[in-house]
Amino acid sequence: RIVYVNGAYRPETEAKVSVFDRGFLFADAVYEVTAVIGGKLIDFPGHCARLRRSLAELGLPSPATDDEILAIHRELVSRNALELGHVYLMVTRGEADRDFVFPKADTPPSFVLFTQRRDAIETREAEQGLKVASVPDLRWGRRDIKTVQLLYPSMAKMEAKRKGKDDAWFVENGTVTEGTSNNAYIVTHDGAIRTRALGHDILHGITRAALLKVAGELGLHVEERPFTIEEAQGAREAFVTSAGAFVTPVVEIDDVAVGDGRPGPIARRLRAAYLDVAIAEAL
Ligand code: PMP
Repeated sequence: RIVYVNGAYRPETEAKVSVFDRGFLFADAVYEVTAVIGGKLIDFPGHCARLRRSLAELGLPSPATDDEILAIHRELVSRNALELGHVYLMVTRGEADRDFVFPKADTPPSFVLFTQRRDAIETREAEQGLKVASVPDLRWGRRDIKTVQLLYPSMAKMEAKRKGKDDAWFVENGTVTEGTSNNAYIVTHDGAIRTRALGHDILHGITRAALLKVAGELGLHVEERPFTIEEAQGAREAFVTSAGAFVTPVVEIDDVAVGDGRPGPIARRLRAAYLDVAIAEAL
């Protein structure tokens, strides 16, 4: 693989970041993951806008302009002949002596991008749906900033795997916040799409924004409010969205089947409609 590091395209074995990098020492870094289908970038403007927001919230310096970031994505996709997969992007506060105090504002950020080949379209998860386990949401209070502090989500996913499930849903004050790496939804018995409203407690999913638009266009009613695990278990359908999973049905929550325990028609329709629009608008 060819990897982008601070202005250069290098073979992955030669792509290096300092041990004093603040991303490594403090998780002082933000990231984005943009899906690639047919060699084109899915929802790129949304990912770029969210990156800007994450950088601004943490006072991280900008590593490049939007046009440059798009050009780097395209160059990396091209150099790696990537048809299907994603581009991972990360910006850290750069290299400095280890200190809780931020380094001088002119410290250059570390800017890394790499590609990952993966068929996210024809997946077992999309065909058969996910089984999820609930876990308490013990993450920090600014989950709207896309930082690389992914230890707890990683632990939660391992806990779910130990229970024979595919993923975990976080629960806080009695309601579902989101999945370890996706936004969570139910389809109510009235046929409405319900998902938690945006705030500091969840990541503002780029796929979520696109999905809600598509749902509206299909004439589905959208309710942005929280739901409990019991409401999800008793719902008509459940599903998640992310740049990695697009729209993926959830068929079981804490050992209880959702609906008839198979991917539901609304989740299937939304997946197809989302992909149609996303592919048509891909850069
Ligand atoms: N929530 C969390 C916690 C995530 O990590 C992700 C994926 N990065 C999402 C939601 C989905 O966001 P997106 O649709 O932008 O991939």
